[in-house]
Amino acid sequence: MSKFPQRTCCACGAKKPPREMRRIASQHGAEPVFDENHKAPGRGAYLCFDAGCVEKALGRKALERALKLQNPLPEAFKNQLRAANQ
Ligand SMILES: [Zn+2]
Repeated sequence: MSKFPQRTCCACGAKKPPREMRRIASQHGAEPVFDENHKAPGRGAYLCFDAGCVEKALGRKALERALKLQNPLPEAFKNQLRAANQ
């Protein structure tokens, strides 16, 4: 493990320390949750705090893929993401 762990934005590929990114988590491909404290169990996907990255991720279904979601991202969750990353 590196002393300075980095995570990759699933939209733009930027690498940053996890605290400088938003984590979205999902357990077993179930509905995703905002993981504000970076402690939720399950698979995690990271995104920059950037409106552009949200749109990129939504357009490419990057979160669905990264989290291996069973269903498409719910509209309400997409809107939550857009509202959070303005
Ligand atoms: Zn990004």
